[in-house]
Amino acid sequence: MSSELTVLVGGERRVIARTARVREALAGVPSKDLVAAKVAGKVVDLSRPLDAVAGADTTVEVEPVYADSPAGLEVIRHSTAHLMAMAVQQLFPGTQVTIGPVIEDGFFYDFAPPTPFTVDDLPKIEAKMKELAKADLKVERVEVSRAEAIKTFGDMGEKYKVEIINGIADPTVSIYKEGEWMDLCRGPHVPSTRYLRAFKLQSVAGAYWRGDEHNAMLSRIYGTAFASKEALEEHLALLELARNRDHRKLGREMGLFFFDPISPGCPFYLPKGLVIFNELIDYMRRLYRRYGYQEVVTPLVFKNEMFHTSGHWENFRENMFLTLDPEAPDMKIDTGPEGWHHGYGVKPMNCPGHTFIYRAEKRSYRDLPLRVAEFSRLHRAERSGTLHGLTRVRAMSQDDAHIFCTEAQIEDEVTANLKMVRDVYATLGFERVEFKLATMPEPHMGTEEQWRMSEGKLANAMERNEIAFEINPGEGAFYGPKIEIYVPDALKRKWQVATIQLDYNLPERFDLTYTSSAGAEERPVMIHRAILGSLERFIAVLIEHTGGVLPFWLAPEQARVLSLSEKVEDYAREVSDLVRRASFRAEPDLRNEKLGFKVREAEVAKVPYMIVVGEREAAERTVSLRLLRGAKSQALSIENLLDIMRKEPLPA
Ligand SMILES: [Zn+2]
Ligand SMILES: [Zn+2]
Repeated sequence: MSSELTVLVGGERRVIARTARVREALAGVPSKDLVAAKVAGKVVDLSRPLDAVAGADTTVEVEPVYADSPAGLEVIRHSTAHLMAMAVQQLFPGTQVTIGPVIEDGFFYDFAPPTPFTVDDLPKIEAKMKELAKADLKVERVEVSRAEAIKTFGDMGEKYKVEIINGIADPTVSIYKEGEWMDLCRGPHVPSTRYLRAFKLQSVAGAYWRGDEHNAMLSRIYGTAFASKEALEEHLALLELARNRDHRKLGREMGLFFFDPISPGCPFYLPKGLVIFNELIDYMRRLYRRYGYQEVVTPLVFKNEMFHTSGHWENFRENMFLTLDPEAPDMKIDTGPEGWHHGYGVKPMNCPGHTFIYRAEKRSYRDLPLRVAEFSRLHRAERSGTLHGLTRVRAMSQDDAHIFCTEAQIEDEVTANLKMVRDVYATLGFERVEFKLATMPEPHMGTEEQWRMSEGKLANAMERNEIAFEINPGEGAFYGPKIEIYVPDALKRKWQVATIQLDYNLPERFDLTYTSSAGAEERPVMIHRAILGSLERFIAVLIEHTGGVLPFWLAPEQARVLSLSEKVEDYAREVSDLVRRASFRAEPDLRNEKLGFKVREAEVAKVPYMIVVGEREAAERTVSLRLLRGAKSQALSIENLLDIMRKEPLPA
């Protein structure tokens, strides 16, 4: 092998000794906040010898990795987890270390301390970390034999590390040293601790070793780190905002819904919450009329036989609520693979039921596309530990529909749905919508050729709509590819909401057919699509996105009439009635309370129009208007007020 290597840096070729360090290959590129490098696509330490990474290659591409890039942030966060472990072991002798991975928006490290950590320990650990970062300790990688590593960590009393090394197949393992301290790790890391200058420890939790409840309980510390103090501050401010906008908190303050242990994970909608729910459904219904959908209601409870045919029994039964056959009370519920022969199940999705709507008549090509929509309640037996407000529930409704169509109609149907997606999200105040094409997974049904063809149809439909999309490789369902639709919210979080999914499987399983124009029996394709997705989840996202200040047409209480004294009670009631008669949702607040108090309460309830009436207003038959968004106006006639309200935008 030649002792030299050709490196490509920013398109420029350089010939360099194989034994040179990665850093030397990058000589001349800006070095500020340079934390690592990508060599032949792999992120590595700047101090690694090139030949250790390049292997037998004669030419490799070397790219700088800066702290504020996604790869750089990962290096920063991972290195900060180590810094935390080092600080913890200095402050709490006898603490064993385990693992410290990077997670979305941060990192954690699991420790086995003599006594579990509490949040009160965090400031002290953070201060120690700052001290160690300032000391600018060089981070060094050394490779040792497995046996040597087992001895080293064994002597240190690190039994978890020994267990981890025992599970590694390679004959050598890498250890990273920071000053005197060391940890088993694959890397990569920042060159020295001074690169770690913007971090925050956030919380403490118990976690079982290897996630197994039979193992010891460890102490997990969560933290986050960024490339700069500004980026960290911005992130922490968004987290604070997210806490203030938590839909569970706002749902309570606005009087929308609640949960009760009597039915875990199933929301109780209060009248105001149901207004939002129903308004969203009404909006979708209007779109359905325009787009040629037909709404149906199918049963909530089916014989398990149907779920066997659909494949849900095989793949989804542990997420289903099962129940007895009332006419065979002696038969116990059997959750095993053959249990579908008797008993009933509560539907977790509408799809299998809709195949019966299709089969209710003999279908010809003239009936297609057939678009069947349903808003029924669905129930899924989610594990109680995963339930979270309206975002993870056991009972939900979807703006669910299934399109039965011919192969040739797929593109037009998908195109129409993409248009609907864009209209709906623009109307609901989401500025950006992102699209992904989830392609053929392993295992899958059908041939690769069929998959490429159907993926091509989804891609074409997006191109026809001038939609830029990413590929999500291997993430399609086993029965067909799908378009996944994400919306970023005001808190810079991304939610997967809508999906448009091709399905060749259910029509096969339920033996659906239509008569083609040539008189032959053909199989239709089924498209599963939802624009809002689960209404529960969507309402949660919308509340957090808007902070509860919903578009006027969705506001549960659009106006509240606040009386200034008992003397104007009748007039306040009259104004409220007039507003209601104009088809707005309004309530009077006639309590004998100060105006400031009433205004604050209306603000907490996020009522967009606060209509104030006192003796002068009653005498002149006017109102004073105060908007939730801050503007105030004096002495308006009731007719003027209604005109203003009528000008509020409605969904198209
Ligand atoms: Zn590490
Ligand atoms: Zn479906």
